[in-house]
Amino acid sequence: MKTTFRARLLNGQTGDPALLVGLRWQGRALLVDLGRIDRTPAGILLPIEAVFVSHTHMDHFMGFDQLLRIFLARESTLRLYGPEGIADCVAGKLAGYTWNLTDEYGFALEVTEIGAREMMTWRFPAARRFAREPLGPARPFTGVVLADPVFTVEAAPLDHKIVSMAWAITERMHLNVRPDALVAAGLHPGPWLNALKQAVRVGAPDDTPIEVARGDRRPLRAVREQFLTVTSGQKIAYVVDTLFSPSNAAAVVRLAAGADVFFCEAPFLEEDLEQAARRYHLTARQAGALARAAGVQRLQVFHFSPRYEGRYGDIQAEAQAEFAGHEVRYGELDRRGAALP
Ligand SMILES: [Zn+2]
Ligand SMILES: [Zn+2]
Repeated sequence: MKTTFRARLLNGQTGDPALLVGLRWQGRALLVDLGRIDRTPAGILLPIEAVFVSHTHMDHFMGFDQLLRIFLARESTLRLYGPEGIADCVAGKLAGYTWNLTDEYGFALEVTEIGAREMMTWRFPAARRFAREPLGPARPFTGVVLADPVFTVEAAPLDHKIVSMAWAITERMHLNVRPDALVAAGLHPGPWLNALKQAVRVGAPDDTPIEVARGDRRPLRAVREQFLTVTSGQKIAYVVDTLFSPSNAAAVVRLAAGADVFFCEAPFLEEDLEQAARRYHLTARQAGALARAAGVQRLQVFHFSPRYEGRYGDIQAEAQAEFAGHEVRYGELDRRGAALP
């Protein structure tokens, strides 16, 4: 099955956290965390529509300036989501530059703060020198922060001595085209297939006309049944910078349940358990235990501490062994899907 999400850590397992999630065939992307991104070409970053920031410790947020610079001259809105206080952090970053020549710019930031019970959004338009204005009243936070026709994004606040937000991106349904059926019907693939998928995703009525070829309109239901297979969607979960505590573990397991890929921090080895707890971080073994409890398909650990340089294989092996419930040698890891794509 061809997958819709294509996720990759822009700085690998050892650099600043920044997970790019591309939506195949749609020219759209999401970014989870905003560590340094200055080595990533602008063309790869421009499809980003929304950024989900765990917390504003420097290694998770210092890419903000870079992203802003790439987007500034564009007629678009970039959405940022994060824990309470993120709008002040954005305002503080913006206050560090001079904006006297942006009056004609169509770019704006929209920043959503996720509190314990409520979400609140502010708009920062370049044309107004990024002076912030509230975008509607506060609304209740019930777990889902963004509901797109193609996917939903959920957030769960975790304890990192401050809030560190964990994220899950779930495809609503996965639609595959049946090429054999197209050939049998003598039809050619084209933009009409995207229109068809879009109509299915938004739940358009069965008799909605779909133009499968010039002048050839057929009802949605017949076209869907003939040319598409519908299966449950992909899920990606993301957890960084969190203490291994009972309440955090419960929140992570709930959020990541059944994920296809679980990106989880593993900065420390279990031999440094106390140090990890003091720093409000996980060990590799704890990451593996969380992945197993959540029943994920694949665990991808990252955010390794540079103190283990030369021993990164040990971190991988410790996490995957706990995840699998038995000893795993580093050489086996590729087969278990631990290597980065
Ligand atoms: Zn942190
Ligand atoms: Zn961190």
